[in-house]
Amino acid sequence: MARYTGSVCRLCRRENLKLFLKGDRCYSDKCAFDRRGYPPGEHGQRRGRKISDYGIQLREKQKVKRIYGLSEKQFHLFFKRADKQKGITGTNLLVFLERRLDNVVYRLGFVNSRAQGRHFVRHNHFLINSKKINIPSYLIKIGDVVEIREKSLKIRPIEDALDAVVRRGIPQWLDLEKDNKKGIVKNFPSREDITTPIQEQFIVELYSK
Ligand code: SF4
Repeated sequence: MARYTGSVCRLCRRENLKLFLKGDRCYSDKCAFDRRGYPPGEHGQRRGRKISDYGIQLREKQKVKRIYGLSEKQFHLFFKRADKQKGITGTNLLVFLERRLDNVVYRLGFVNSRAQGRHFVRHNHFLINSKKINIPSYLIKIGDVVEIREKSLKIRPIEDALDAVVRRGIPQWLDLEKDNKKGIVKNFPSREDITTPIQEQFIVELYSK
């Protein structure tokens, strides 16, 4: 399955939003979006381009897909699952995405980005309820305890991420015991807990065509 391997900063510029894909760099004066906040490419600085309804819906889907680092196929599977569930499809979709293990370790501040989360989950650096889980798409449940493995505690990027998390803060649906390097899932996030500017109804409209 093809994964995007180009410059991730281009993606922020394309979506006209800081997607925070590069950890610490996103908060520094090296952020490409802060320096050149217009779309990449030859015509990036052209003004007043009209976007069709379809274009708006497509951009919203691409944006969310890129924030969570998913392929089209993975994203569409989450959408189908969200659509089958009771409740509001768009909200269900975002809650599913937030429940992914690579996102949860990012939210808890064990890593600096979701991409790093995915990488470290695959390398067995975390335990869920004391068991090794190396599947980034694993969906956490209420009451799950997410821990950094003893032997991974001294890994520099994990230490750095734990120091830097104060800048982002921990969402209220998670509880971090920083001294024990342990997080507890208190609840699933509500729509209000997901503060990234996302208009998920456009994604629902796009897939309903
Ligand atoms: Fe986006 Fe800036 Fe982070 Fe690059 S450094 S990924 S442009 S937020």
